[in-house]
Amino acid sequence: MGNEDNFIYLDHAATTPIRDEVNKAMIPYLTSKYGNASSNYQLGFDSASAIADARLKVANLIDSDDNEIFFTSGATESNNWVIKNFKYNDRIITSQFEHHSILNSCEQIENSDVFTHVVYIPIDGKGHIDPLAYEMELRKWHNAHGTPCLVSFMMINNEIGTIQAIKYYANLAHEYGCYFHTDATQAVGHIKVDVKELGVDFLTASGHKFGAPKGIGFLYAKNDYAKTLLKPFHNGGQQELGLRSGTEPVMLIVGLGEACNIAKRELSLNRQRNDKLGTYFRLKLGKALPRLIYHPCDDLRYTNVSFLNYGIRGEYLLEWLGENDVYCSSGSACNSDDNRPSYVLKAIGCSDEEAECSLRFTLDADNSEEDIERAVSMIKFGVQCLGG
Ligand code: PMP
Repeated sequence: MGNEDNFIYLDHAATTPIRDEVNKAMIPYLTSKYGNASSNYQLGFDSASAIADARLKVANLIDSDDNEIFFTSGATESNNWVIKNFKYNDRIITSQFEHHSILNSCEQIENSDVFTHVVYIPIDGKGHIDPLAYEMELRKWHNAHGTPCLVSFMMINNEIGTIQAIKYYANLAHEYGCYFHTDATQAVGHIKVDVKELGVDFLTASGHKFGAPKGIGFLYAKNDYAKTLLKPFHNGGQQELGLRSGTEPVMLIVGLGEACNIAKRELSLNRQRNDKLGTYFRLKLGKALPRLIYHPCDDLRYTNVSFLNYGIRGEYLLEWLGENDVYCSSGSACNSDDNRPSYVLKAIGCSDEEAECSLRFTLDADNSEEDIERAVSMIKFGVQCLGG
């Protein structure tokens, strides 16, 4: 991001800057419009109507009805909700490279009193969930039990940027009478996400991944599936149809609505721009450092590369780049304290060494070609300084 702070931000999969329009829309709810949306006077009505308006904007972005949108604190909560509070959860099918909010939730229920068995579908070398292994699991479960199970596959992988065939996987789940959830945290606001076209039953998103503030996201639940298939996440008041109690953070919800509005308006333009920027970044990087190993990717916002052939560990280069104002990440930001090689890269078949030498750069429409040129020369210089 060319900005007054003079750093170059290439870590948009971790979080994105808040858009100016979003900021502007939120400010009244931080100052004069502080009413509780449940209060029975004008200040409260204003908050309730702002929430209703934001819900419509969210629904409009993903082509759902507004009463299918449940505001949460973000993707972690939405994912926990679906995995832990699903009523038919004697089996869950998920994949090996889901976000930890899915994987750790699965682990927790597997270790709890409720008997739930979780199956982790492997990932192929190109970063896609293995469709044959998936169908085999569905068939096996169906033949043995004939009862519904829950499938949860992410839409875009947050480390490598591969896009999964969600429509196909959701259809297949339904053929076998199962329910389908997708963690679309890295997709919503960036690529077209239409719940009707995809045919998903549940969908997770987080506002800060596309220009809204942190601490707000949503869970989409088809028709009245929320009421029939989900247990309340919080118990308390009647907010969010009594399924997610607690006084609504009106300001954050308004910000999310505004970010959805902007995303809807700018989606196709940003997509083209991001593809162009991503191609340019890879071209420049390839010229500067021809021996890099590129991990698979479908969404050109992501470039995840291994510096193995230069003998440089990702964490050292990451630190060097950070000190020199180029911000990127090794794997996912949520795991940055974990020094083990990325489980996502391992799932696609990388060796420990190759994974340990990898870094993730994620671009967005606020990056310029000049940012990219500067970043690439710093990356090359960093490699040289570290002895590569
Ligand atoms: N799922 C995916 C795919 C993600 O990338 C993230 C954030 N890295 C999350 C879930 C969790 O999002 P949040 O931290 O906003 O709850």
